[in-house]
Amino acid sequence: MSDITNKQFYVKRLNDFLASGNYRKTPERYKVLDVVLGFNKHFSIADITARLEQENFYLSLGTIYNTLRLFISAQIIKSIDFEGADSTQYVVIGATSNVYLFCTTCGKIKDVRDTNFITFMNTRKYTAFKTDHYSLLVYGTCNSCARKRNKSLNKKTTTKKSFK
Ligand SMILES: [Zn+2]
Repeated sequence: MSDITNKQFYVKRLNDFLASGNYRKTPERYKVLDVVLGFNKHFSIADITARLEQENFYLSLGTIYNTLRLFISAQIIKSIDFEGADSTQYVVIGATSNVYLFCTTCGKIKDVRDTNFITFMNTRKYTAFKTDHYSLLVYGTCNSCARKRNKSLNKKTTTKKSFK
């Protein structure tokens, strides 16, 4: 997997894809690729815009969106869509994480590398199907939301008790 974390691997993948589809090699596409590869976790279009603006590079949302669609077709990134999430998140295919924990209370997403899950998936063989990549989307409650919930539950019980 070491070549997959290498930037050159993705640049070559984009080069090949653009060449095979007769797409133009615009500097914008390579700039967005550079930004995308700079994230070591999931990212949204807003994250990309923020990074670009930090470097005084301005692209319209439409251009960024279309570039991401192109990266998806080129199998460079994939989207992870959580039900109830504010925005679509993306991850680089071949990134170290493969499990994404979504807190349904605050919407936070945590990227996790689960080696047991990888081992399990490596044993899976599906009829007439070749697996390229996979992700596991897990819904639940993060620790800080669970603590807040417990606190408010405790408050309710103590108030009840004081009434007795
Ligand atoms: Zn939370």
